[in-house]
Amino acid sequence: MLVNEMVQLGAKRSGIRELFEYGLKRKAEVGAENVFDFSIGNPSVPAPEAVREEIARQAAREDSVKVHGYTSAAGAMSVREAVAKNLNERFHCGARAQNLFFTCGAAPAVMSVLKSLSVPDAEIIILAPYFPEYTTFIRAAGCKPVVVPANTKDFDLHVDEVEPYVTAHTQAIIINSPNNPTGIVYHEEALRALGDMLREKGEAFGHPIYIIADEPYRELVYDGRVAPFIPNLYENTIVCYSWSKSLSLPGERIGYVYVPDQAADSVDVFYAVAGSARAMGHVCAPTTAQYVVEKCCGMMPDIAAYDENRKTLYEALTSYGYTCVYPQGAFYVLMKAPFGTALEFSEKAKEYNILVPPCEPFGCPGYLRLSTCVSHEMILKSLPAFKALIESGK
Ligand code: PLP
Repeated sequence: MLVNEMVQLGAKRSGIRELFEYGLKRKAEVGAENVFDFSIGNPSVPAPEAVREEIARQAAREDSVKVHGYTSAAGAMSVREAVAKNLNERFHCGARAQNLFFTCGAAPAVMSVLKSLSVPDAEIIILAPYFPEYTTFIRAAGCKPVVVPANTKDFDLHVDEVEPYVTAHTQAIIINSPNNPTGIVYHEEALRALGDMLREKGEAFGHPIYIIADEPYRELVYDGRVAPFIPNLYENTIVCYSWSKSLSLPGERIGYVYVPDQAADSVDVFYAVAGSARAMGHVCAPTTAQYVVEKCCGMMPDIAAYDENRKTLYEALTSYGYTCVYPQGAFYVLMKAPFGTALEFSEKAKEYNILVPPCEPFGCPGYLRLSTCVSHEMILKSLPAFKALIESGK
């Protein structure tokens, strides 16, 4: 006998994957250069040269037993020390190696934290639009997702809109800034106000309410903005990070959970994260990747290409009459369906060989997400098709 829920989960491709697969088929039919695939958030900027050299150096290293062997469950101490040092240099947050638990990317980092908080009746708040896997992770961890509907006026964080959803069962709220799929970067004041509200509610309910800061896009910010480091604004913040996007290493599966000393019950939270990872069978994040980030965690991504892509796409689409959210970070443009439902519009777009996934799975019906981690050439070539597409609805 099998668990039907898991069978369904495995059998059902996400809408984004579905579209991506359709794109592969379509490319074979009409030529790759004639299909405009905005479906997937796979970094298009190569990893920095120094990172690639370090990967090659690690692979060729004589000490194969070391670089391909097990490390401590939480990661090699030298790696955790290097990353803690880098966090302190950038955010002055008092991080210690002992606060870091290395994971196979941000997804298992979030999952380990969720599992740690899954007491009976636990509720986890998420803000629409959200990374679709959150609902899967939250349910799989045994918690209940509580969705704050999207504020479609500005897609920003408004504490008064979150507050009614906080109950005695709230264990945490997931904050993803820079955001997938809106590209919004939350302001320091809004995050501080959120922390103040959670602190107050936590005191009233007699238990801490954590912010889970899911930050794989932390360094992908534009126009001179900086994504605030949330543990410096609210003590009960647990950070989930990965180098999947910032160093273009999604396939290396490397990230961490950072449990700051100042978080309530921090030692036990760290143990619970370690215990959850152990219970799920994924301790000791990929060792080669650990040693790569030991050397390269101070590197910043070259985001010029993403920056140019988002500007070109945003400016062209809005000039044709599309309504889009101006992305301040990450590598997505959120677009309102100009006619029909988002699903209908996505289907219509296929006739123009444009692949854009609808945002129903992101909890945001009526919108679509365009990934801008694509070639600039493809964006330029797609523009006449976007123009014709919106005109077809007039
Ligand atoms: N969180 C968000 C918001 C994401 O967009 C993604 C990937 O797209 C992840 C987590 C998963 O990241 P990783 O590949 O590091 O597990």
